[in-house]
Amino acid sequence: MTLAPTEQFSVRRAPSVAAVALPPRGQFIGGEFVPSRSALTEEVENPATGEAIASVACGSVEDVDAAVAAAVAAKDAWAGTTPKERSEVLHRIANIIEANRTELEQLESANTGKPAAVAEDDVSSAIDTFRFTAGAARTLTSLAAGDYAEGHTSVIIREPVGVVGVITPWNYPLLMAAWKIAPVLGAGNTMVLKPSEQTPLSTLKLAELIADEVPAGVLNIVTGSGGVVGQRISEHPDIDLVAITGSVGSGQKVAAAASSTVKRVHLELGGKAPVIVFDDADLVAAAQGVRAAGFWNAGQECGAACRILVHESVAEEFTELLVREVRAMVIGAPGAGDDVELGPMISAAHYRRVLAGLEDVRREGHTIAVGGHALEAPGYFIEPTVVTDVPAGAPITRTEIFGPVVSIETFSTDAEAVERANETVYGLAASVWTASSSRSLGVPRRLDFGTVWVNSHLVIASEVPWGGFKGSGYGRDLSLYALEDFSRTKHVMLNRGA
Ligand code: NAD
Repeated sequence: MTLAPTEQFSVRRAPSVAAVALPPRGQFIGGEFVPSRSALTEEVENPATGEAIASVACGSVEDVDAAVAAAVAAKDAWAGTTPKERSEVLHRIANIIEANRTELEQLESANTGKPAAVAEDDVSSAIDTFRFTAGAARTLTSLAAGDYAEGHTSVIIREPVGVVGVITPWNYPLLMAAWKIAPVLGAGNTMVLKPSEQTPLSTLKLAELIADEVPAGVLNIVTGSGGVVGQRISEHPDIDLVAITGSVGSGQKVAAAASSTVKRVHLELGGKAPVIVFDDADLVAAAQGVRAAGFWNAGQECGAACRILVHESVAEEFTELLVREVRAMVIGAPGAGDDVELGPMISAAHYRRVLAGLEDVRREGHTIAVGGHALEAPGYFIEPTVVTDVPAGAPITRTEIFGPVVSIETFSTDAEAVERANETVYGLAASVWTASSSRSLGVPRRLDFGTVWVNSHLVIASEVPWGGFKGSGYGRDLSLYALEDFSRTKHVMLNRGA
């Protein structure tokens, strides 16, 4: 195989940076924006330009306490609404997002550098999350009543948990908020949500847009750091369940803090998704699938198709196909065209982390078949990169790089492929590429991941659960299972006296 060691990409710039409609300043507590109890603020920047676009409150423990008090005050009335009433609120939220989708997409792109296609998909998925949950919340039920002890009838009631704390990441700010707000409210809870300090704008904008539709105190947003606001949410005695989407380290801290009050914990953490390409696979489809799913959102995606395990007999052909796909990728800033596939890293710090990961790759002696470099400033762009000659157990096969970097390993038997795919602390997602029906049905059962695609990767639907095993956490987003996770069952047993 003759491949140039690196490929020169360039960043397509937008002719002009779209003006975005910023949300109001302050914390959203009790149905309105109020000044933060903290005087500290934090700059939020556009990672495609490195320029500050807003400054938001760096909230305090007192802000969280006020938000929790508002959520507690609103709890009984909201829990007392019927599923139909809650469903109607969720439908109205979906309609509002749809009516304001251009504004939300532009704001999301300005705060994350996402290409238009990704921002559009995020907003469409957020709308669908609310629509699906609006329907599903009306079907949430439990076992039928029955007699299980002599003379007694058991009724199982499904109740809200109470006040739910939610902590979201920067990679899909609005969508991850939607994945939580819809089932948490749909199941009858009130909530306090902390967006990532790097990407709070679309969540605050959503609060502004829906303020008149959601009763005061049902949804509260507090901006600020993980160490202060996130920590207080995790340990607050009046929060009954805390849910975080983020890194494994943050999930561990949340779970540890939550243990002081023995609150329930819902964890959606990192991933390192293996992509097993068997010798009978459609290699063109697999290479195209990895182009889309390995580099979606610039690889800043917990389910990214970032670790290829390809059968040794087709490894060379597959690598050539993938490198060809990657060379054709269009890199650019938001607004630089609808064909842009790859945007920047979220921040200077994350850009440095990904570049350090590429240095490690070089130090380990792997081959960089394409990409591997930072791109020109402004902004935090990195070339889409394919790393080859990766032996079993190399650090890149286990560490989440969370950037536009895909590695390729080879295997010789099916058993080896499965064993090596499972050799990771993560268990979020995986895919299998094969033409064989027996492999299609058999291999997913042996893979230790919450989602396994066959001849596909990163396709998500609101009806089906999303969530991991092992270090990727526990708890399910989307589907009826999320509604179950954000509710509790109570057994009422009646002595019939006869
Ligand atoms: P992060 O862990 O740095 O931050 C996530 C959130 O946790 C932020 O709001 C942050 O402020 C907060 N946080 C940080 N320390 C905290 C603490 N001590 N207590 C409470 N909250 C704290 O993650 P990130 O960099 O924003 O997002 C990237 C990570 O998220 C990746 O590991 C990715 O795989 C994961 N992720 C997982 C899913 C999933 O569905 N499983 C989805 C998206 C992202």
